[in-house]
Amino acid sequence: MVVPFAAIFGQAEDCDRILMSGLQVLLVAGTHGNEINGPWLLDQWSQTPELINTHGVGVVPVIGNPEALALGQRYLDCDLNRSFRLDLLRSPSILDREVVRAKQLLSFFGPEGSTPCQIVIDLHSTTAAMGSTLVVYGRRPADLALAALIQARLGLPIYLHDGDADQQGFLVERWPCGLVIEIGPVPQGLLKACIIEQTRLAVQACLKVLSSVSSGLATYPDQFVVHSHLGSLDLPRNTLGHPAACVHPYLQGRDWQPLQVGAPLFLRPDGEVFRFEGRDSPIPVFINEAAYVEKQIAMSLTYREVCPLPEQWQGALQQLVDC
Ligand SMILES: [Zn+2]
Repeated sequence: MVVPFAAIFGQAEDCDRILMSGLQVLLVAGTHGNEINGPWLLDQWSQTPELINTHGVGVVPVIGNPEALALGQRYLDCDLNRSFRLDLLRSPSILDREVVRAKQLLSFFGPEGSTPCQIVIDLHSTTAAMGSTLVVYGRRPADLALAALIQARLGLPIYLHDGDADQQGFLVERWPCGLVIEIGPVPQGLLKACIIEQTRLAVQACLKVLSSVSSGLATYPDQFVVHSHLGSLDLPRNTLGHPAACVHPYLQGRDWQPLQVGAPLFLRPDGEVFRFEGRDSPIPVFINEAAYVEKQIAMSLTYREVCPLPEQWQGALQQLVDC
């Protein structure tokens, strides 16, 4: 089920305003139905249009997984944000509701859809103490140019997720340009004022940046910082596959702080401590993220990269914005 524009914005005149401009930014909330702050922000925005200044950019707001949101569940059959794999999208026999929904979103709002959008912003929340984070999948020039501009404006960290064969099929990958705005910490299913406000500010900054690109006034940084995905750690498990230890209390909440040799990672009930024995001080993120329990991920590790921002990347974003 697609939430119609009118259901989001309430008034037909607002819909007309949105659909008139060239660039259309798809603003998705509720891709995971138990992350309710983004959907709540969109709902409030529909009632109070001045809540978010779009800076003249056309925005198409949509609830990613309305059925899961109505039930307060992350998903119904499978994770919508892993359902955009090409093999799933091309298979007529896979009837998982999230895969069907992924196809539907693309048919409506994909680059070849009935209401084509060139850029997608996907709003998420995390139970981890990550603060506000931009998540980019792969190293597409337009994605990185956009993320660099937002980072220059707000100072947000960029988590660059690529090269993980176990984690594929993210929503934003099916649009020419897109990124995730991830805000935490907040429990699943809980509204929290500071999370809503951080989400609002991040969305507004993103639209401001796109507006500046559109008007040719964007000031690109020479370089930007990304935290590139290295891999993920699972909890220690017993022979039955059950957790034998939990995240060490010292580590809980220390996202973005480099792991030194000997740092406590996991704690067993008998007091035994599992310590980090690797090298190069990787930087942990998504520590004890509730949604990743089922994926057997206790945290992911990253390394910090300072990347130059080539002019061609700026051109890639400009080309999309000038569509
Ligand atoms: Zn999510």
